[in-house]
Amino acid sequence: PVSPSPILSMRAIVKRFGAFAALSGVDFDLEAGEVHVLFGENGAGKSTLIQIMAGVLQADEGEYQLLSKTVEGVTPARMQHAGISAVFQEFSLIPEMTVTENIFLGRELMRFGRLDKAAMRKATVAILAKLGFPLDPDTRIVTLRRAHMQMVEIAKALLHDAKVIIFDEPTASLADQEAAALFDLIGSLRDRGLGIVYITHRMAEIDRLADRVTVLRDGNNICTLAREDITHSTLVKSMTGRSFESF
Ligand code: ADP
Ligand code: MG
Repeated sequence: PVSPSPILSMRAIVKRFGAFAALSGVDFDLEAGEVHVLFGENGAGKSTLIQIMAGVLQADEGEYQLLSKTVEGVTPARMQHAGISAVFQEFSLIPEMTVTENIFLGRELMRFGRLDKAAMRKATVAILAKLGFPLDPDTRIVTLRRAHMQMVEIAKALLHDAKVIIFDEPTASLADQEAAALFDLIGSLRDRGLGIVYITHRMAEIDRLADRVTVLRDGNNICTLAREDITHSTLVKSMTGRSFESF
């Protein structure tokens, strides 16, 4: 069920790197309670688009609205505050700091003018338990495997009261079992009303997760498909501009 006003809405987004347009007029909407997959070949502009969403990059042209308010002059910290968190391929965690320190980075709890380490640790234990993540709050990030780093990013996002979580090919370095656990978690985030932007080029993940798919090609959005209209041949044809039969 698609609600009438999206959580976020992007219109005619243009992003240039020098003379090259990585995005040349892209539209994208995200509803509460949906997993919206961004699909396209390498270089299509997927990562550029989500970096604009997350405030890492600024669009050169176009309009970006969050909860019907225009977003301007953003930074990742401000976007996170506004409820958008991203789990990027390059993690934004500080390797030498602990799980707790990373989860509270930039929003530390204070008590009598000092860091309230006990309260932060307790809150970290609670959120990890709630999510079923088997992590020690005192472990330094550098010692964790990749799936566990991702758990820290997700816990951090939820502690920031994220309304939107963006995942950029999150299963790229996960074992099958870890990926299955992530899919379950994403399903439960969707059921709680979060909007999920999910980049993948894996058909099985689209079948499993996608409520809608937007296909990007050469910096343009080719189409947005509702779940009932998603077929592998439509996706491949949209992605490449060629028909499925020619493969
Ligand atoms: P995708 O994530 O779909 O593979 P990207 O958004 O990473 O695509 O890249 C889209 C295009 O923009 C590519 O041609 C890429 O080489 C180019 N691009 C991305 N970031 C930069 C940058 N910082 N400087 C120059 N070109 C870039
Ligand atoms: Mg990319």
